[in-house]
Amino acid sequence: MKTLKELTRPNIWALKPYSSARDEYSGKEASVFLDANENPYNAPNNRYPDPLQGELKRKIAPVKKVFPAQIFLGNGSDEAIDLMFRAFCRPGVDNVVAVEPTYGMYLVCAEVNDVEYRNVKLDADFQFKADDMLAAADGNTKLMFLCSPNNPTGNNLDRKEILSLLERFEGLVIVDEAYSDFSDEPSFLTELERYPNLVVLQTFSKAWGCAAIRLGMAFASSDIIGILNKIKYPYNINRLTQEEAIRMMEQHYQVKQWVKSLLEERGRMIEEFKKLKCCCYVYPTDANFFLAKVSDAKKIYDYLVDNGIIVRNRTNVTLCHNCLRITIGTRPENDALLEALKQY
Ligand SMILES: *Cc1c(COP(=O)(O)O)cnc(C)c1O
Repeated sequence: MKTLKELTRPNIWALKPYSSARDEYSGKEASVFLDANENPYNAPNNRYPDPLQGELKRKIAPVKKVFPAQIFLGNGSDEAIDLMFRAFCRPGVDNVVAVEPTYGMYLVCAEVNDVEYRNVKLDADFQFKADDMLAAADGNTKLMFLCSPNNPTGNNLDRKEILSLLERFEGLVIVDEAYSDFSDEPSFLTELERYPNLVVLQTFSKAWGCAAIRLGMAFASSDIIGILNKIKYPYNINRLTQEEAIRMMEQHYQVKQWVKSLLEERGRMIEEFKKLKCCCYVYPTDANFFLAKVSDAKKIYDYLVDNGIIVRNRTNVTLCHNCLRITIGTRPENDALLEALKQY
């Protein structure tokens, strides 16, 4: 791996972050706060929230088996993705490599930041080779994005190839695990100690049932996390979100229950889909959704919309011609979809 200094944009490396009132004084003992121009009335929303979310990180750390200093919290994982570009990629100079098809935000963030985006097409089994990613890279490649389980294909990417990339790529490898709660494979969090160039993304938006609170997590070396903390907005996670996430961490057994029933429903849905006349193929999945190749994605999508049921039409995505992406819902929701498709 190149040194972090070599990988970081020089202006970011040199940056002295904005120092907020809550950064300069963060102790708990004081009782009179006249430092941040807040209104003394309307507690508790009158006060700025903890800029580094200490209490929440101390709750997350033991569950994820990392140190609090290895956690960055963002306004969704999308914030962490954007900050990776802003921290490491010089606009108009550096580039990133990702597999195709994959989550659309990597490309959007690349374009917003004027960073070249190079993609490597997955094979017919939606798998990739580290060799192909490295062949697409050059001396200015700073980041590689791997989403596993991948969106929209649903499958885990080959672990051996990810590890090979971590061994051989000189820049940072971002493994987006938004759906890993639904997979039997171990998280890459266990590899953080071995690979200083690894960044793992997870989110409260999927298995944790908290898409509305906008909370994403990045896990990496404390040096990488320090750079993200330096450039984020000072109060990027609001108090309501921090409080709700702390509440969720205290009942994380509930998440296990949700995952268990969603996986049961997933098994049932896939079996039922295979029997449908309009379904040609169901791709293997490790996520809370599956990709199905159907006779005519556009017509079936429109038909479902007319019946008040929304799925994701992925027919225009590379390798996904005539594919619909189906999220697993509650049993009645899933039954409504199956009933409608039986009538189609
Ligand atoms: C849904 C999803 C996310 C989550 O994004 P948030 O901003 O945390 O809601 C991240 N990555 C992938 C691949 C996703 O599908």
